[in-house]
Amino acid sequence: MNLFELLAGEDNHPALVTPNGASLSYKQLRENVIELVSQLNSFGLKRGDGSANTSGERIAIAMTNGSPMAITFIAASLCGTAAPLNPKYKQEEFAFYYEDTQAKALITLSEEPEAAVSATTSDMMLINAKVNTDGTLSFELVKAGSAPRESLNPAAPNADDIAMILHTSGTTSRPKRVPIRHRNLIASANNIIGAYSLTAADTTLCLMPLFHIHGLVGCLLATLASGGTLVCPNGFNALEFWKLVATFKPTWYSAAPTMHQTILARAGRNTEIVKANPFRFIRSSSAPLPPIIIEQLEATLNAPVLESYSMTEASHLMTTNPLPPKVRKPGTVGYGFGVEVGIMDDGNLLPQGSLGEVVIKAPNVIDGYENNPEANAVAFVNGWFRTGDQGTLDEDGYLRLTGRIKELINRGGEKISPLEVDDVLLRHPNVVEALAFAVPHKTLGEDIHAAVVLKAEASKEELLAHCSTMLADFKVPKQIYILDQLPRGATGKLQRLAMAKLLNIT
Ligand code: ATP
Ligand code: MG
Repeated sequence: MNLFELLAGEDNHPALVTPNGASLSYKQLRENVIELVSQLNSFGLKRGDGSANTSGERIAIAMTNGSPMAITFIAASLCGTAAPLNPKYKQEEFAFYYEDTQAKALITLSEEPEAAVSATTSDMMLINAKVNTDGTLSFELVKAGSAPRESLNPAAPNADDIAMILHTSGTTSRPKRVPIRHRNLIASANNIIGAYSLTAADTTLCLMPLFHIHGLVGCLLATLASGGTLVCPNGFNALEFWKLVATFKPTWYSAAPTMHQTILARAGRNTEIVKANPFRFIRSSSAPLPPIIIEQLEATLNAPVLESYSMTEASHLMTTNPLPPKVRKPGTVGYGFGVEVGIMDDGNLLPQGSLGEVVIKAPNVIDGYENNPEANAVAFVNGWFRTGDQGTLDEDGYLRLTGRIKELINRGGEKISPLEVDDVLLRHPNVVEALAFAVPHKTLGEDIHAAVVLKAEASKEELLAHCSTMLADFKVPKQIYILDQLPRGATGKLQRLAMAKLLNIT
């Protein structure tokens, strides 16, 4: 089985819809993908030797979000191996990713972004995607690259073939190269469908970037595999969000916490739209969603908020809170869907209730990082994959994450979960964003400081007093910084480990 077989929606049902209302049916999508794969083959791009377990030639994609990016990704993963990249990278970054993924070709729309095009090497092909009047795509070979290439007509990929190469977000170290197979993607998409009971009657609003696993699997593939409709704007914009909700009446959306906070901030001005278009559920993933934000989102948008735990190496979904009437537990990321979850220390599984490293085992987990034996030796233990996150399982199997192991603050031996401190700060009415972090300390090793973004004035003393009412003294930040914004990665992840350096705290 390969990704093509996931596109199983009814012929005339809309698969992909653009913000201006143009839509592509499943029949058009399937026909277009077949045509595009054959165009890529005619340029000489191929998927390896046809045996199982192969990686096709790597096809870099640099496009802004939208139907063309979605179609291109599917075609590239069926012809070779898709390598979707953030279109906002600078030229040096594109050059790094081309080299790192061994890209043989780049596909862009109208030869934009320029930085992506100028970073191509002389042996890389440059392919331009053109949107036809009916919304389908055509590819045009702009530059052939150096190696002579024959037109090919290879077989369809196997479940074991590598469909795409992504990099981890680079929150805790240099991004790691993650090869994801067709079977991994199919398992993950099916888990998501099962977890949220997705059907053809669902319409998803795609807010997450399609160069990250959350957008690619959590939004795009899960929707297409359920036969539903994906509304795919060019990116996330809080003003446009409410217009899209009013126009397309999506039944759900999935986003990272920072987007939920932005949506929440504008909900008050759109109460009519909120009331007229109730979501079946709202999903959050990719980073911790403070329980206070869940409370506010549920109260304001009147829909269940399902926090989910995901990572690139697991082809996205690992655990999620379930739909009602099953119990959702704010402060937990729910339980495994098609994924076994354990808590480990020193290679041994710990009894229920213990605190330790979260480990997982599932068909959606990758077999290993690419060309990275050191990382693989650390990550895989006794058949389990180590997530690098710390947590505990409750008696019902719900997972409570206490933070990334690398981000935990060790204050003279007292371990502090920065997530707990963030949540307390966010409970102050004037705080909109909060980030607790470790700073070096001569005798303690590490101490705790925090940065906040305010929506109305609050003094540092007042914020510290607020923390003291809810936290043991050793967890109360020793310094609070009031900033205009907090540093985030491309997918909205807070850069906790970078804070001390950014603020010049030594
Ligand atoms: P790198 O591995 O390069 O440091 P990264 O871990 O941020 O980057 P991703 O694969 O995008 O790269 O993110 C996975 C991580 O995101 C998880 O290991 C976890 O730390 C965090 N995460 C995802 N969902 C949640 C959640 N609901 N709550 C808390 N953390 C989450
Ligand atoms: Mg990681």
